[in-house]
Amino acid sequence: MSVLIVGSIALDDIKTPVAEHPNLLGGSASYSAVAASYFNPVNLVGIVGKDFPQEHIDLLSSRRIDLEGLQIVPGKTFRWSGEYLLDMNTRETRSVELNVFEHFTPTLPANYKTSRVVLLANIAPDLQHHVLDQIENPHFVIADTMDLWINIAKDSLVRLLGRVDMLILNDGEARQLTGESNLMKAAKSILAHGPEYVAIKKGEHGCLLFAKNGEFFSCPAFPLEEIHDPTGAGDTFAGGLAGVLARETDSEPIDFGALRRAVVFGSVLASFNVEAFSLERLKTVDAAQIEDRSRILRLISQFDSE
Ligand code: AMP
Repeated sequence: MSVLIVGSIALDDIKTPVAEHPNLLGGSASYSAVAASYFNPVNLVGIVGKDFPQEHIDLLSSRRIDLEGLQIVPGKTFRWSGEYLLDMNTRETRSVELNVFEHFTPTLPANYKTSRVVLLANIAPDLQHHVLDQIENPHFVIADTMDLWINIAKDSLVRLLGRVDMLILNDGEARQLTGESNLMKAAKSILAHGPEYVAIKKGEHGCLLFAKNGEFFSCPAFPLEEIHDPTGAGDTFAGGLAGVLARETDSEPIDFGALRRAVVFGSVLASFNVEAFSLERLKTVDAAQIEDRSRILRLISQFDSE
C-alpha cells in the first residue's frame, strides 16, 4: 500500500561554498517523495502555484508518486533561499516566501485516507495535525520538523508528539525542543511526550535511533569526500526511511529490526542526495548503488567481540 507523504514543494535558491544556483526544485515533500519511491509507491499531498515548472511535475509523476493530492492553484509556489557556511553544516535562511502556502488547507483524496504508513514531512505542525485528522486508523505515523516550528509553534508540535509513532529531528533541534544538552536525555524527554521512537540526526556524524523500551541503534553517515549541497538531506532520510517501512510492513507490527534497516537505507539515500544540488543526484540513483552503499555501511560499523 502507498505511503502518504505531506510536506512542502518549493523553488529554492541555494548558495554553498561550492556554487550558487537559483530556482531549484526543493521542498521537504519533493525530496521525501522521490526518496520513498525507491522502495514503495507514494501518495503525495502538497501545493504549488501555476508558476511551478512542468518538468518538476513530470519528474514526480515519472516515479511511483501519485499526484492526485497535489493542488496546483493560481499564485506563486513557496520559495526558500538558504546559504551554507564553509563547514556545510551551518545554514542561514536568507529568505522565505510562503506564497500559495499561506492559504493551504490539505484535503486528502478519499483513497489516501486509509494510508497505513504516513510521513508528515517538514511543514507547519498545524498542517500536520490537519492531515492526520483525515486519516482513518493509520498503522505508523512519522513526523519530521525544523527549528522554525520549535520557535513559533512549539505547543502544536508538542501536541503532535502525542499523535505520532516516531519523530525525526536533528541534534540541535532535539536540544532546542527539550532544553537538554545531552542527546540521551533529550531523546528520553521526547519519548515521554508520546512517540515510541525518535531518530536524532547528527549530519556527517550519522543518526541515533531511540525506542521507548530502551532499544538503541547508532547508524554512521556514509563517508563522503565531496559534498555539493546538503539541502534536503534530512527530508531524503525521512522519505527513504518511510518508504522502507511501508514496503516491509504496512500491517505487521513494526519492530526495531525494521526500523534499523529503515534508518540505514534513509542514510544511504541522503548520502547520494548531498552529492549534487536539488534532486539531480537523488533522481539518478539505482537499486545496485543503494545496495552497495548499505553493504559498505554494514562493513564499516561491525566489529568482533573478541
Ligand atoms: P532540509 O535541508 O532537510 O532541512 O530541507 C530543505 C528543504 O526544506 C528546502 O528544499 C526548502 O524548500 C524546505 N523548507 C525550508 N523552510 C521550510 C519551511 N518553513 N517549511 C517547509 N519547508 C521548508
